[in-house]
Amino acid sequence: MDVTEDFVRTCGEVGNLTQRMTGTSIVDAFFGPPELAPDRQSKSTAPEDLAARLMVIADRARSEIDDSLRSLYLAGEAESLAVVCRWLSGEDIDYADLVHGLFKIEVSPFDEKTISSLLRNLEELLGDREGKTLREKVLLFQEEGRVSGDELKKLIQGPLQEKASEVGELFARQVFSKIGQSVTDNGVSYEAVRGQPWSGYNYYQGNYHSINQFNIDRTFNKDSMMTVIYHEYEHHVSNLWRERMYREQGFLELSVVPLHTGRCVISEGTADTARDFLGVDLDNPRTKIVDALYSLRRAVSINAAFLLNVEGVSREEAASYIEEYGLRPREQAVSSLDFIAPTTTDGKQNLWAPYVFTYLIGRMQFVHPTWRRAVAKGAVSRFFQTLYLDPFSGSSVTWNKAFEWLG
Ligand SMILES: [Zn+2]
Repeated sequence: MDVTEDFVRTCGEVGNLTQRMTGTSIVDAFFGPPELAPDRQSKSTAPEDLAARLMVIADRARSEIDDSLRSLYLAGEAESLAVVCRWLSGEDIDYADLVHGLFKIEVSPFDEKTISSLLRNLEELLGDREGKTLREKVLLFQEEGRVSGDELKKLIQGPLQEKASEVGELFARQVFSKIGQSVTDNGVSYEAVRGQPWSGYNYYQGNYHSINQFNIDRTFNKDSMMTVIYHEYEHHVSNLWRERMYREQGFLELSVVPLHTGRCVISEGTADTARDFLGVDLDNPRTKIVDALYSLRRAVSINAAFLLNVEGVSREEAASYIEEYGLRPREQAVSSLDFIAPTTTDGKQNLWAPYVFTYLIGRMQFVHPTWRRAVAKGAVSRFFQTLYLDPFSGSSVTWNKAFEWLG
C-alpha cells in the first residue's frame, strides 16, 4: 500500500480510537475517497499497535517521498499521531513532553514578570476610566456591546452570516489576488450550539464548504465576535487550498485533517493572524484592547494548564487563578477550564488538554514574525503563495524550511 494511503487509513483508525476513548475524533475533516473514510476503518485496533504502525509510516515517508518538504511534513504528522496513541494507551508522559511530542514546540509556564507586563500593557490601553481598578475597567469594556443567549443566536443566524460573505470577499481581494490564483469557495454556514469546550469551531465539510459553530453558552461582545469570525474564516480558507491541492495534484495525505500535530500550530497561528493578512481593524482602539486581552488570557490559560496538568491543582484553584490574572468573571473562568483540564466533567481523558499552546505559540513564534518579515521585504505575494499554494509549509516541522527564501 502506498505510504500516503496507509497514513490516511491509519488516521481514520486513530480518529476512531480517540472518539471511543475521549468522545472527540482526532480527524477534524476528511474529504478523500469514500473507501478511506474513518468510519470505513477498523474501530478496535489497540493504541500500541497504531503507535507502532505510525512510526513505520514516518520512516517510509522519509525514505519513499522525494520532495523534502512533503516528506518532512508527513513524517512529522505520523510521529505526532503516534504520541497521541501512546498518551491514550495510558503511558506516563510528562505534560511538557506530551505537548512537544504532539506539536514539536518547547513549552514552559510564563513567569510573573511576563504576566505583569501584559497586565500593564492592557492598563495603558484602557486608560483613565474614573479611578476604577483594572479588573473593573476590563469587565466594563466587555459589557459594552455584550451579546448572549437568544440574542446571540439571532445574530449568528442573520447578520453574521452576511458578515461572513464580506470576509470571504475580503480574502479574495486582499489575499487571493496577490497569490494570482483563485480557489472555489462555497462559503461558510453559521450555527449556534451549546455544551462545547470552545467558543467557536470551523468544521470543514469538503466540497469547499464549512460549517462554523458558535457556542452560545459563552458570552461575546461585538469585538470578540469579530475576532472569532476572522479566525474561523481563515481555517475555512486554508482548507479550501488544501482540498484544491488534493483534488488537482492528487496528494492523498491532504484529504485528511488530523488534530494534535505540527499542522495545528501553523493552522491556529495563521487563523490568529488573519486580521493582519486582511489589514482590517488594526488601528481601531477597541481592537487593540481586544488583542491585549487576548495575549494576556492566552498566557494565563497556558499557566492554568500547567497548574492543572502538572501541579495537579483543583478546578476551583485553577479557576481562581484565571479569574484573578486573566481578569475574567468567575463563570467564564470556570467554563474555560473545559478546554485545558486533564479530564472532562464526565471523567474521560480530555483530548483538548494539550492544545492551548498552539494559538499563542503558532502566532508569536511562527506566523507573525514571518509575516512581518515578508511585509518589510515587500514579499507579501510570495508569502501567501508559500502559505496557501504549498500546504506542506503548514506545520511547525516544515515552516522555517518553507520560508527559507525570506532569509
Ligand atoms: Zn482555531
